[in-house]
Amino acid sequence: MGLRFTLAKAVGSVLTWGLRDVVHRPAANMPGKIALYADPSLIADLRGRLAVGSIVVAGTNGKTSTTNLLADALEAAGESVVCNRTGANLDSGVATSLLQTEHARWGVFESDELWLAKVLPGLQPRYLLLLNLFRDQLDRVGEIERIQESIASALRTSPSTVLIYNGDDPLCAAIAEAVPNESVAFGVDEDMGLVQNRVSDAQMCQECEGMLSYEYRQYGQLGSYRCERCGFARPALRFAAKEVSLGASELGLLVTNEALEVRTPCGEIHVAAAHERLRSSQVSPYLVYNLVAAYAACRMMGVAAADLQRAIDEFDPRNGRLQNYVIGGRRVLLNLAKNPTGFNQNLRIVEADSGPKAVAFFVNDKEGDGRDVSWIWDIDFEELAAQPERVVYAGGRRKHDVQVRLKYAGMDARLIDSIDEVLDDPALGPEASVYAIANYTALPIVKAALDAREQADAASGPDDVARPARPEDGLARREGALAAAVVPMLDATWADREPVVILHVFPDLLNLYGDGGNVRILQQRLERRGIPVRVEEVRHGELLDLSRVDIVVLGGGPDREQKLAAEELMVHRDALAAYVEGDGVLLAICGGYQILGRTWLLGGEVVEGLGILGLETQRPGTSADRLVDNIVLESPMASLPVVGYENHAGRTYLDAGMEPFGRVVSRTGAGNNERDRVDGVLYRNVVGTYLHGPLLAKNPEVADALLARALGVDALDPLDDGPERAANAFMRK
Ligand code: GLN
Repeated sequence: MGLRFTLAKAVGSVLTWGLRDVVHRPAANMPGKIALYADPSLIADLRGRLAVGSIVVAGTNGKTSTTNLLADALEAAGESVVCNRTGANLDSGVATSLLQTEHARWGVFESDELWLAKVLPGLQPRYLLLLNLFRDQLDRVGEIERIQESIASALRTSPSTVLIYNGDDPLCAAIAEAVPNESVAFGVDEDMGLVQNRVSDAQMCQECEGMLSYEYRQYGQLGSYRCERCGFARPALRFAAKEVSLGASELGLLVTNEALEVRTPCGEIHVAAAHERLRSSQVSPYLVYNLVAAYAACRMMGVAAADLQRAIDEFDPRNGRLQNYVIGGRRVLLNLAKNPTGFNQNLRIVEADSGPKAVAFFVNDKEGDGRDVSWIWDIDFEELAAQPERVVYAGGRRKHDVQVRLKYAGMDARLIDSIDEVLDDPALGPEASVYAIANYTALPIVKAALDAREQADAASGPDDVARPARPEDGLARREGALAAAVVPMLDATWADREPVVILHVFPDLLNLYGDGGNVRILQQRLERRGIPVRVEEVRHGELLDLSRVDIVVLGGGPDREQKLAAEELMVHRDALAAYVEGDGVLLAICGGYQILGRTWLLGGEVVEGLGILGLETQRPGTSADRLVDNIVLESPMASLPVVGYENHAGRTYLDAGMEPFGRVVSRTGAGNNERDRVDGVLYRNVVGTYLHGPLLAKNPEVADALLARALGVDALDPLDDGPERAANAFMRK
């Protein structure tokens, strides 16, 4: 601590004053950011301001809420706390919080998973609370394994930190196994009996080439898992929740722990055995996990359950996370969701309300959100479609993508630019509740609009609040329009045909960002034309039978899953080659496309491909050197440009004479490799491509070209592809 530290402190103070008092802006990041330039070891120099120490909270979903709750619980217990409450979760946010405090007993800091590497070495926290890891913003990190590696190396720099982690999450458990730090698992020790999501982020064992089997699964990859091959399994839960009740207006649970002693380089931690109940007036399965996590952390920090319960009872940070409003006499709920798991959890909350409702989704694609929105195809919107009295709206920068996704889930969404359009929709009855679900950068905009409406209501007084009259046919009208949109065209030519069979190969392994959407799109484009269709799936360990198949779809996958898929496909290599040479239709995306070539690379290892197509895939540098961007192609398969998103480490080279799927015409995006300015391959009726999106969502001509080939016709009657074309046009812009 010398001159640099003194300078950094001075810079921090001046900036905080300038931002807060002169320009009236929140000073959550900037002072720390600049001060860190002056003194890169600033966090280490400041951690002495915390008399007891700190806890860091990380994990894909629930960080901000859990961090705030822990800070509240510590305060309820009479502790003084410094906390980056607004979610400024980079090292600059942590440094800013520390700069702005003179003394506190505890620091409670939310940290972005990848920034733990910058936070932990200096802070040396007592605890790291790791909530969960889900696929999120893969454009920033590539594959989820890289986040795991980064967290593990951060922990190794802070050996006295005790890891408190979600034992129900195999991705977190693998980190606990990989690091020398002491660790304590929490989880839910009974089946909550929830509806299962289609796509789970981790179905393969974390330690070997086996697949996880579940005694029960809660949601995503969370649950009681085990690998029969190597024995990797959910660890013993030191803090275990049971008797979970998810009522209409109250969530209750019982957390149990045996007496616990944890030895750390800084001393021993003793926690007495207990059985304690927690309850919350907010109800959602993901809150169960946040509460058990908070409970475990509180007990480790010496905070009593009663103090945590008080914090839960008074919890209302009004930060757009599960925030309630009453606007025009109508109930409005705003929440953040930024990945499929988060969205699915939100949909559960919406679906629990059986009354009339409006649901508005806002999806942005800015830096903080991730530029790619393919993940919206991994959300189970279909269940919402099945509910009777609901209307849906699509908003945010990628509203057209949302509209297309909802269309293929059977819902006719109205495009909106603001939540005001929902609140003012004359078609919405006064008793309908409104749910607004927004991703990261979309949330503050929706929140600002709702805050303004709430204030306007308060200013005009309850009696003046105008309630929109419910038109007789309000909801029915919109549903009617939808029904018309999905009625299949009755075309006698196709009606007695044998169903077209679409085979989705390894949806449990090759299911990166929305690729499964391609199957849904092919299926529905047949159904809309009245053409019989059947979708079959072959999962890991099942036999692949191509004898009665018309279309095969292979998605992309993370390296380990891709390798396992390739090994299994190798058994069926000859059958697959015969299918291709017999003009079978095959769509292969990214990892699935690489597998079809002679070889592909995994780290430094050369993996044998199926050798069905004349191409091979190399990997210069490490898996970190990825090609990640929006991309536009000109392809002989479509008159409109083909748009998509690529995210891959492999570089594919076509043999001389092989035809690419398209020529790269965008400034961004590489396609097969940096050299050739082409993407993918076209061979007989095979389309291989790096484009996620999913490919067919915004490129309906490619979908129809594949279908026409499967049906043996030159072309199919066009469908109304207005939303698809609008989404395509947005990306070209
Ligand atoms: N694992 C492969 C790669 O990185 C494929 C990734 C993908 O399918 N998106 O090259």
